[in-house]
Amino acid sequence: MTTRRASAGGASTLPDPAIRIAEGSLVVLIGPAGAGKSTFAGRHFRPTEILSSDAFRAMLADDEADQRVSGAAFELMHRAAAGRLAGRRTTVVDATNVTHDARRILVEIARAAGCPAVAIVFDLPEAECRARNRQRPGRAVGDDVVARQAESLRRAIGRGAFAAEGFAEIHRLTTPAEVDLARIERVRAVRRARPGP
Ligand code: ATP
Ligand code: MG
Repeated sequence: MTTRRASAGGASTLPDPAIRIAEGSLVVLIGPAGAGKSTFAGRHFRPTEILSSDAFRAMLADDEADQRVSGAAFELMHRAAAGRLAGRRTTVVDATNVTHDARRILVEIARAAGCPAVAIVFDLPEAECRARNRQRPGRAVGDDVVARQAESLRRAIGRGAFAAEGFAEIHRLTTPAEVDLARIERVRAVRRARPGP
């Protein structure tokens, strides 16, 4: 895994065994269908910390795949994220987030709440995503959809999009083993000192 931290002195890339998440962060999972985002989220975060676009579609239409309610589902998901961050509650957005527009809104929500946005990028071989997408319980999208999402992700990585978009940290997982070995280490948020009396 590589971790890239935005800092005043420029960003650095270093190997890092643990993904450090400050309390009250907005954690944005990024990866094509079948990359293992929901599995990863379920393994490392509490159910109430995870906002999944599938779950919001299901809430609205009794069907997590019903694209007709996608707009409303994302709107609700964004409001839920803003509400949680206002209470400094760590929040994980489980959606593909492979487009600039999807990420831009999330970074803006984090910025408005004064919370860091942290990207966890599932940059796995496309064949792995395709295979996992096919064996996914519930619904699977077509191989062409996975291919488009993977291409979108490759282009974003190629142009260094995540740092430019304002993510404070970017953790990139590039093999299934890295995903399986990843550890989340929760750390206390660094708070600015309150102004004196
Ligand atoms: P989507 O964007 O479609 O929701 P996703 O990124 O959330 O996809 P998952 O649903 O987590 O992907 O995983 C897809 C399939 O791959 C599931 O069948 C899951 O059991 C399997 N899978 C996920 N992660 C792993 C893993 N680390 N090792 C083995 N299989 C995995
Ligand atoms: Mg999922």
